[in-house]
Amino acid sequence: MRFIDLRSDTVTMPTDKMREAMCKAVVGDDVYGDDPTVKKLEEYSAQIVGKEDALFVPSGTFGNQLALFTHCKRGDEVILGDDCHIVAHEVGAASVIAGVNLRTLNSDKGVLDPLEIKSKIRKEDIHYPRTGLICVENAHSNGRVISIKNMKEVYEIGKEANIPIHLDGARVFNAAKYLDVDVKEITKYSDSVMFCLSKGLCAPVGSILAGSKEFIEKARKGRKLMGGGLRQAGFLAAAGIVSLEEMIERLKEDHENAIYLADELSKIDDINVYKDDVHINIVFFDISKIEHNPRQIAEKFYEKGIKVNPPEDGLMRFVTNYWVSKRDIDYVVDTFKDIIKK
Ligand SMILES: *Cc1c(COP(=O)(O)O)cnc(C)c1O
Repeated sequence: MRFIDLRSDTVTMPTDKMREAMCKAVVGDDVYGDDPTVKKLEEYSAQIVGKEDALFVPSGTFGNQLALFTHCKRGDEVILGDDCHIVAHEVGAASVIAGVNLRTLNSDKGVLDPLEIKSKIRKEDIHYPRTGLICVENAHSNGRVISIKNMKEVYEIGKEANIPIHLDGARVFNAAKYLDVDVKEITKYSDSVMFCLSKGLCAPVGSILAGSKEFIEKARKGRKLMGGGLRQAGFLAAAGIVSLEEMIERLKEDHENAIYLADELSKIDDINVYKDDVHINIVFFDISKIEHNPRQIAEKFYEKGIKVNPPEDGLMRFVTNYWVSKRDIDYVVDTFKDIIKK
């Protein structure tokens, strides 16, 4: 049975082209620097995001934590939003791996106030930790895209204080599509950027960390320390190359489908769709008026061949991806209406 999977864009399977590329990949021991396919992916990635160099890493979490570990010294303070992925979804790794303090700021739907960031940068004082890094996230995991103006302001504040900016760009290509700009227009306001190959871009495994030559050289050693020195990783990188070549442009289809899904859901009584928040492929909606048993609704969908996460505090999140067509969305919406009726 084929499932329609709306739980996340991490559920995407590799395309036939990827499977073929993986099969035929020329590989070598990448810790020795011998894997031509990994090298090709890293060079191509660096070029696309406009950085000097890049590094293939096992996951987005790995790439973010490696960025913290590479930019910061133990005990440094990192300024970032209280609802960002690094704070909310990375198991507190920042305290375990980099050993840094997270100085969280209130985010307004993912947007940080540049002046507040500025006010939180530490001066030299015998009592203070050093501010080591500022992190921003775009697109935000709440599905919203941060403006280039905001990114530029934060970047300039960082430059002025000589503090680097790390961009958690897990879905930075989605952000670029939404803003209708080359991705470099976003990444240029960061010193390092992580993006995921394994989400909407459909690669089975892997993310990229990009930055200056010097930064990536240091990160390469950090990656080894963290156990991320993979050997014949070219089999995975081969799929990543297909991601970059073929899957970026089409992300706009996921965005169109998300808007379509949001529009159709909003026609159902008592569902409050956060339509203004649908910037990329993520749709949030409130069903607290209709559903009182969170587990049950996910089970009902499952019985009809649709995988969804159960609502949290009445809030559901559906994510579109390459494997979800417009017709699938019609089926999902019709199924939803049936479930509610019963
Ligand atoms: C998914 C995601 C990550 C982490 O990626 P994994 O590959 O799941 O570890 C980091 N940041 C953001 C914003 C994400 O959405």
